[in-house]
Amino acid sequence: MPSPFLTPGSSTKANELALLHLRRDQTIPTILRTYDDENLGYDEGKVTNTRFGSFPHSTIIDHPWGSQIAASKVDTGSRGRRAAPPKRKAEELDASGTTTGGDEEMPSLKTPVAAASGFLHVLYPTPESWTMSLPHRTQVVYTPDYSYILHRLRARPGNTVIEAGAGSGSFTHAAVRAVFNGYPEEGPATKRRRLGKVCSFEFHEQRVGKVQDEINQHGLDGLVEVTHRDVYEHGFLLGDPQTGKSPKANAIFLDLPAPWLALKHLVRKPPSGAESPLDPSSPVYLCSFSPCLEQAERTIRIMRQLSWLSISMVEVSHRRLDVKRERVGLDTEGVRGATLHPKSVEEAVAKLRSDEERAKLGRSGLLQSGDASASKKDSSAQMSTTPSYALGRLTHRSEPDLKTHTSYLVFAVLPRDWTEEDEQRCRQKWPSNR
Ligand code: SAM
Repeated sequence: MPSPFLTPGSSTKANELALLHLRRDQTIPTILRTYDDENLGYDEGKVTNTRFGSFPHSTIIDHPWGSQIAASKVDTGSRGRRAAPPKRKAEELDASGTTTGGDEEMPSLKTPVAAASGFLHVLYPTPESWTMSLPHRTQVVYTPDYSYILHRLRARPGNTVIEAGAGSGSFTHAAVRAVFNGYPEEGPATKRRRLGKVCSFEFHEQRVGKVQDEINQHGLDGLVEVTHRDVYEHGFLLGDPQTGKSPKANAIFLDLPAPWLALKHLVRKPPSGAESPLDPSSPVYLCSFSPCLEQAERTIRIMRQLSWLSISMVEVSHRRLDVKRERVGLDTEGVRGATLHPKSVEEAVAKLRSDEERAKLGRSGLLQSGDASASKKDSSAQMSTTPSYALGRLTHRSEPDLKTHTSYLVFAVLPRDWTEEDEQRCRQKWPSNR
């Protein structure tokens, strides 16, 4: 099944994730279903209830992404009376972590509700929108951090990323999009088309189960491999911790409480004699994400001992700026120093234009204008050439309650090993380098 995160196609499909966008700050992720055990006797599929009305999935499936969907005209009260829902089990929870018909502010289906006349927009999921709407099981990495991290990790199509821990899968979705280079079923990986992959490790059993379910539901099987593992103890091989397969990673992201404990496994030649999890043919880029400076310092100390180079630390201080054009400088009389509403500005501009017309007539001698002063005429001429959207002064303010510190990001690079064989190959290829 293609993933709606990677290749959404043009329209919604049954059994795929869709985002039900209610308003700017409210989106419900849901798997679109053509059936719903709870609404026996109705042929409308699963129903998502929101404060803007009820949305049977039969009215959402097979619509172009971005479509506006009107709320059902069916009285949800009578729907509820005819087929009262049984008590939900935990495993029946929706992708959003809410129950079918999820918006918790809505009364349950048992409560009669008049049919609403609201609407929503159905959107395909992206890692950014998933991060904003996913069910949080842990702290997550947000878009400003992961976009910078993936850039510094040189994550690109065909790369393999190791991630620990998986947590709520926020970083996982962004990473898999960055390295996506086609689906496994499109043919085996070759030298020219290396499949991109995320190898995700997590030691909390329930979180592993949840992330794995989401990976399946989101069509990311084969692109994300989730392993239940304590990486401090058992490292990063796939399958058996000692004899398993190397993921051959080019990039590593550690979001762990004690990342320095995992570093001993991220070496070219592990002392245990096990295979290295790193790609032998390329440098490896690493990022460690720690909320406090002491953790970052401890990680850096171990990195130095293990030959990591170009170690640097960054704090992403993301601020959202509220940019506004203040209509200072005009009032309806064209007097500087007043603040205007947009409508008043339009009126002021119209007036200034007519003043200028009158001034022109005055200059041609057709109109004796005694009231307009010379300076006013000058400013009128200037204002009349300025479009209304560019009038006034541009100001900005940062959102006061925005959390700016998330974590310290420690970056480092481990160069590839240069062997005698590499040297020989190089000499054969470029003999003049001798
Ligand atoms: N990056 C994740 C995201 O964006 O959703 C959030 C990761 S969360 C902050 C840290 C995770 O690391 C937790 O889920 C925790 O269970 C896991 N963890 C902690 N120690 C671990 C270990 N030794 N091995 C594997 N996972 C571990």
